[in-house]
Amino acid sequence: MAHLTVITGPMFSGKSTELIRQIRREQIAEKEMQLFKFSEDSRYAPAEKLASYDGGMIQAVPVINTREMINLVLPDTQLVVIDEVQFFDDIIIDYVSHLVEQGKRVMAAGLNLDFRGEPFPFGHGSTRTMADLLVRADFIVKLSAVCTYRGEVGERCGREATRTQRLVSGNPAHYTDPVKLIGAQESYEARCVRHHIVPGRACPLPTRLTMKMYEKNSVTL
Ligand code: ADP
Ligand code: MG
Repeated sequence: MAHLTVITGPMFSGKSTELIRQIRREQIAEKEMQLFKFSEDSRYAPAEKLASYDGGMIQAVPVINTREMINLVLPDTQLVVIDEVQFFDDIIIDYVSHLVEQGKRVMAAGLNLDFRGEPFPFGHGSTRTMADLLVRADFIVKLSAVCTYRGEVGERCGREATRTQRLVSGNPAHYTDPVKLIGAQESYEARCVRHHIVPGRACPLPTRLTMKMYEKNSVTL
């Protein structure tokens, strides 16, 4: 049956591993399948691997945008698999829906949140985010990683990590830092909500004003 499955969660949560596991099952079922992954420049890497951090690998076609993918999807394909879907342009949302309407199955994996903890925006400054893809999904696989924050005496947190911490030269990236930093040493860690640190982020707590509005409408917080 045609449907859209989205596998989502922070970095290191096992999205690509789950995708590879599902692909291997479909290979046994001998389904006509095409695998794509986002790549900044596909001209120099005609056949890339869809890889996971634990060493799993499978052949996938790197594409730079949705249009390139549209030109490659064959009429007989039953299942379209996409990794790093959050890096595509927002046409991917409509194209994926179109594929499902055509009777194909789509399995897409991608980050739900950016390093700020906000819905991951699709490419080219789009106002549409991964949230727009997730609401269209028939099935969602939500994964979490392990929080690798270390406390004062070096002990590891180990809680469920639902966020991706961005570090620039070992320090938490500022809220206003561009998503691409040139020349900086950057890295990422999986973190729980408590240890997800974003200097410059506005306080998400309800303000006095909204609290007053709740009181007026006799809503108990
Ligand atoms: P994703 O595609 O979601 O970024 P992968 O499937 O590539 O994740 O990698 C998942 C693997 O990463 C895990 O199976 C584990 O071996 C490894 N890993 C490294 N750091 C962590 C972490 N903090 N929490 C969980 N797994 C981690
Ligand atoms: Mg991955």
